[in-house]
Amino acid sequence: MDFQPDRNLEAFRQTVRAFLRERLPADLVRPLRTGTRSAREDVTRWQRILNEQGWGTPSWPAEHGGPGWSVQERLVFDEECIAAGAPTQDGGAQKLLGPVLNAFGTPAQKAAHLPLLLSGERQWCQGFSEPGSGSDLASLRTRADRVTDDEGDHYVVNGQKIWTSYAHRADWIFMLVRTDQDAKKQAGISFLLVDMKTPGITVRPIRSIDDCHHLNETFFDNVRVPVSNRVGAEGEGWAITKFLLNNEHASTADLPVLRRYLKQLRSLAVRARDGERPLFERTSFALRLARLEAETNAIVMMVQRVAALEQDHSSAAHAMGSILKIRATELQQQLSAFLVESLGDHGAIAYPGPQEKSAAALPMQEHGRGLANEMFFRRASTIYGGTSEVQRGIVARALFQF
Ligand SMILES: Cc1cc2nc3c(=O)[nH]c(=O)nc-3n(C[C@H](O)[C@H](O)[C@H](O)COP(=O)(O)OP(=O)(O)OC[C@H]3O[C@@H](n4cnc5c(N)ncnc54)[C@H](O)[C@@H]3O)c2cc1C
Repeated sequence: MDFQPDRNLEAFRQTVRAFLRERLPADLVRPLRTGTRSAREDVTRWQRILNEQGWGTPSWPAEHGGPGWSVQERLVFDEECIAAGAPTQDGGAQKLLGPVLNAFGTPAQKAAHLPLLLSGERQWCQGFSEPGSGSDLASLRTRADRVTDDEGDHYVVNGQKIWTSYAHRADWIFMLVRTDQDAKKQAGISFLLVDMKTPGITVRPIRSIDDCHHLNETFFDNVRVPVSNRVGAEGEGWAITKFLLNNEHASTADLPVLRRYLKQLRSLAVRARDGERPLFERTSFALRLARLEAETNAIVMMVQRVAALEQDHSSAAHAMGSILKIRATELQQQLSAFLVESLGDHGAIAYPGPQEKSAAALPMQEHGRGLANEMFFRRASTIYGGTSEVQRGIVARALFQF
């Protein structure tokens, strides 16, 4: 594969910048900690604007109505949106559910959900993990029993999901349920789309170490779901899950965020002092920054490599995706921890988040805002989307096959 810089990329970057200058409304620009989502209505407004431009689903190929961008173009787009302070998009819907619906959905399901996904009016959460069934997802116990009565053909869903990001503001959930209690565990699973307003669903918040509410417990008590909301055949949920989880590895690399952390570090290197001198003059700081920059460049190449393997349907794509997930998330943790350390004694200050007003100006506030929370949030990056230990297992099994 070719790692040479794409000469057209700079022109593409300028096109994206011009679009952002013209079309991103000033009142939608709000600083945001990474890992958090913009306000629901901001996501919808921004999605509508992107959609008008034909850029509503940046990661989708042209045949599914996306812009058909290369991996590099997608990265440039994400980077420029982050730099301009644009709202987030509904990543789970775009990168996980969308490809599933395009590959496995019925024409009726596509017609019902894709237009609203594109317009940002219907936002989604992912209901896979359960207490005791995270890494060992196939052991999940939430059950869906099929009933036919006066109201038609339904599943009655009972059970509990946990760590359901943004369930408290989602309109719908895509979830895994056990439809066959007797089959081998992977064989008894189905994939359902469920309206969060259906009676019997309760969402309870879980406050996380970064002092945010993204996570929830989601309970299902006799929730009736039309059988027509099942994606794929009954019992085919595991095959769909494997397809979806492959997409999840690549999206957790979060390369634009790695680059943003580096940019913040370079700015701190000049602003923060080591005694009388700027921080960058301290050799240990400069060496550590240089090593992390080199590792970020290696991640850039790895992202391109995984994309090329996926495009060729190579059997190595899955294991390479796992290596990428391990390295990129470790680097997110190293960079965010380095940022807090670089604040020196000020690293101990509980700075307010980017959107919170503080009563008094704090030293280094401009650089320190939200950094500690971000570092804490990144502790989770080696857990969500499949833990690092589980990824290492995937890599080890792949090596045995070669
Ligand atoms: C911030 C955050 C957001 C999340 N969002 C969502 C969401 O929106 N929807 C959703 O469904 N889930 C979500 N999750 C859940 C996430 O997918 C699970 O936490 C993850 O899969 C791990 O499962 P677990 O927490 O049950 O840990 P466990 O699976 O119980 O793992 C515990 C420990 O055992 C290790 N371990 C387990 N199995 C193996 C093995 N085979 N080999 C070696 N080590 C092993 C793990 O690495 C870990 O260290 C989120 C999690 C976090 C932290």
